[in-house]
Amino acid sequence: MNIHEYQGKSILKSFGVAIQNGYVAETPEAAHEVAVKLAEETGTGWFVVKAQIHAGGRGKGTVTETGSHGVVLAKGLEEVKGKAAGILGGHLVTAQTNATGKQVNKVLIAEDVYGPGDSEPKEIYMSVLLDRANGRNIVMYSPQGGMDIEAVAEETPELIFKESIDPTLGLQGFQARRIAFNLGLSGKAFKEMTKFVNSLYDAYVGSDATMFEINPVLKTADDRVIAVDSKVSLDGNALYRHSDYAAMRDTTEEDSTEVEADEAGLNYVKLDGNVGCMVNGAGLAMATMDIIKLSGGDPANFLDVGGTADAARVEKAFRIILKDPAVKAILVNIFGGIVRCDRVAQGVVDAYRNMGNIDVPIIVRLQGTNAEEAKRLIDESGLEVKSAILLKEAAEAVAEVLA
Ligand code: GDP
Ligand code: MN
Repeated sequence: MNIHEYQGKSILKSFGVAIQNGYVAETPEAAHEVAVKLAEETGTGWFVVKAQIHAGGRGKGTVTETGSHGVVLAKGLEEVKGKAAGILGGHLVTAQTNATGKQVNKVLIAEDVYGPGDSEPKEIYMSVLLDRANGRNIVMYSPQGGMDIEAVAEETPELIFKESIDPTLGLQGFQARRIAFNLGLSGKAFKEMTKFVNSLYDAYVGSDATMFEINPVLKTADDRVIAVDSKVSLDGNALYRHSDYAAMRDTTEEDSTEVEADEAGLNYVKLDGNVGCMVNGAGLAMATMDIIKLSGGDPANFLDVGGTADAARVEKAFRIILKDPAVKAILVNIFGGIVRCDRVAQGVVDAYRNMGNIDVPIIVRLQGTNAEEAKRLIDESGLEVKSAILLKEAAEAVAEVLA
């Protein structure tokens, strides 16, 4: 689950990571009010106004309606309201969004931590994530952080460093010092950095995150080390341990069909192909997607209906798959283990009748307990549903309807 910058920063702060302070606002008036509060608390006179969307590249991105960037500086309280108005409600297009962009519902008003006197702010890149190749968490970092990190990775990969962490020992003192050293820090900034990395790693582990990316980490003119941005993904399967993080979910940032499926307890991921699939079990769903590819189609989705494929669930699944206009055929592939095939077949028939005219061909393959009865049920239902027992037959039927 992805969360917003301001939410990621609140997690960082709770683990003792130094952050750029700020408050979120949903209207230009509220933006002004929180800026007043921030000025009183921190003494700051300048502010950054930052669009909160689930995509990076905001600083270089543009709000279609106003031409404003997604991250802008307000040099004084009187500028905050206007700058916020240039971002709120608009659509922000960045290198990481599509051409329509994402609607901005919230802005973060943060203290300006660069300061007018800081002529050479040092922007560092740092992330913590799982390196699947060696099965360990790593801290990835670069002294050349900031908005051009992609170019750094491409042109000067030697400036991207990695520290691999032993799962039983955690981040070791010498590793934190090596990181600070490679970042070219010394004196107070060196010490601050070792503290920063330690608490960042604590935050990553303690929040069950899959990624923390802080770009930039700022070394200020007075040698403090501060998280200026935060891009955080939390492990959805661990959210039951963190009810406060679960509440951070922003469904407006997610695909609406996926949200609907999630609420119905269906495991659905939308893809770009033309063959919808409804399957029980994630492994079988993966295999079904392969079969669709082999038969010349392209899966339109991944959908795991789970163990209890009754008529209501099957109908819901049909409705969700059919919301996608690209779907030209649906392959239902059920293995009857605990769930009996004839029950699922009845569910398919009932759902089909209930929904009236479904105008895409449906191929149903049922294998396992009571497969023969299931095939008969479908063949005798008089519906435009093709049934199969062997997966090969089902794949051929898919190829036939696509031809
Ligand atoms: P991103 O573009 O979505 O990654 O958003 P960031 O939060 O990283 O902000 C983009 C850029 O805005 C940063 O790389 C900084 O250069 C700049 N920025 C962020 N905070 C401040 C600030 O407090 N003062 C100034 N002057 N610039 C800032
Ligand atoms: Mn950033």
